[in-house]
Amino acid sequence: MSNLESINPDKREKVKKIISTLQLRYGTTTKKDSPFYILISTLLSQRTKDETTDKVSKQLFLKYKTPDNFNKTPVKTIESLIKSIGFYRVKAQRIKEISNILITKFNSKVPNNFDDLVSLPGIGPKTANCVLFYGFGIPALAVDTHVHRISNRLGLVKTIKPEDTEKHLKPIIPQKYWGWINYALVSFGKEICRPIGPKCSECNLTKICNYKKQQEKK
Ligand code: SF4
Repeated sequence: MSNLESINPDKREKVKKIISTLQLRYGTTTKKDSPFYILISTLLSQRTKDETTDKVSKQLFLKYKTPDNFNKTPVKTIESLIKSIGFYRVKAQRIKEISNILITKFNSKVPNNFDDLVSLPGIGPKTANCVLFYGFGIPALAVDTHVHRISNRLGLVKTIKPEDTEKHLKPIIPQKYWGWINYALVSFGKEICRPIGPKCSECNLTKICNYKKQQEKK
């Protein structure tokens, strides 16, 4: 469990500033959806633009809503519905496999714990944490490419792999913000702290950003 008072004062102030700045920009609440929708839409989002994922996921769930619906649908039909998504053949197969496992092992329900979620084919820590938070409202810190990149740029962590970022962020981000910080940093990463060409001139975090300081020294 994170406890801001127990971390070093500089990092504590940095975390507070980041949270307050992001709250001003993105608010304090996040959208929730059914665990099965979050599971499948996050699976579809891997290596795909968010706009495409949102559109395809919504269209898909207009037709099919449950593991049973997908289980009874031929894989070719699923492929045809998601073919604007990257790696759509593999993902269609995954949807079939996951649906079948949910039916046979989990009584047609999405499990609400990390270990069972990552046991499903194609489901890694990021997707599992998204399902826990956005689907079940359970505190979980999903580290995707935006969260990983920005946490390193700001100097909250110094990591190479997203799994390590999650491990090092958890002790310094209060638990009540774990789910929200994913939403806030993903939004921030798309708008301001972009992977290439971050818009530092429009950012209110320049004074505490390690990346910005390094750029200025060059
Ligand atoms: S100052 Fe630039 S690099 Fe740092 S968080 Fe803001 S946009 Fe990202």
